[in-house]
Amino acid sequence: MFSFLRPPDSGSRAGLAFTDRAGGVSQGSLGPLNLGRTDVDDLRHVRENFVRVGASLGVDRFITLAQVHGPDVVVVDAELLATWGPEQHLGSGATGTPLQAADALVTTQPGVALCIRVADCLPVLFVDSARGVIGAAHAGRVGLAAGVLPRTVDAMRELGAGEIQAWFGPHICGACYEVPADMREDVARGLPEAYAETSWGTPSLNLGAAAEAQLRALGCVVRREDPCTRTTPALHSHRRDGADAGRLGALVWLAD
Ligand SMILES: [Zn+2]
Repeated sequence: MFSFLRPPDSGSRAGLAFTDRAGGVSQGSLGPLNLGRTDVDDLRHVRENFVRVGASLGVDRFITLAQVHGPDVVVVDAELLATWGPEQHLGSGATGTPLQAADALVTTQPGVALCIRVADCLPVLFVDSARGVIGAAHAGRVGLAAGVLPRTVDAMRELGAGEIQAWFGPHICGACYEVPADMREDVARGLPEAYAETSWGTPSLNLGAAAEAQLRALGCVVRREDPCTRTTPALHSHRRDGADAGRLGALVWLAD
């Protein structure tokens, strides 16, 4: 169920998890454990998948976004939580209310898991255990270049964060993420560390290297638990499985 799990312990109120494909009820390449793609999966399956993940983590509230590859960050405060229904993380199919369009979440509120959904894009979870500030961001090629990670760090610091750990989850690696040569040039102009080559010798992008350089420059401590999605069958990959790829979840929460 998890490619990486660090539950809250006496030293930290913050729990971190990256899910994999195992342990859910979705069908075919969507599954079994799909935490996104409510547009094509059976909503009952996605609902059950979240229930199972929540039971394993000891969490029963999830905040999700309609991810749009932008730099916007949502602050999950008491006011937002007061209006957040029990099925709202499942999106408009369950509630009739569309999710907010943004690509990062930050909070100081305990008992709720911030959840980013990806299949090849880079998920980053942020923790300042001492100050009790957490965050989660979706950083694909476009969002990374648009600055979603610095924006998330800024939003955490506005909530009082000091030393921030940034945990990278599974994403497509630089040896696999083939892009056109002109796209590599464009991205590398702003993010030089992204410039890479596939294992078969064509232009590619290294999202992890670019994100690590960005976050180290901002004083974050980077921790990487990030196997390649494309070459790891136990992980969802859009490049490998196409339009019917499921989504893994990156979850961070503060224990009550
Ligand atoms: Zn790879």
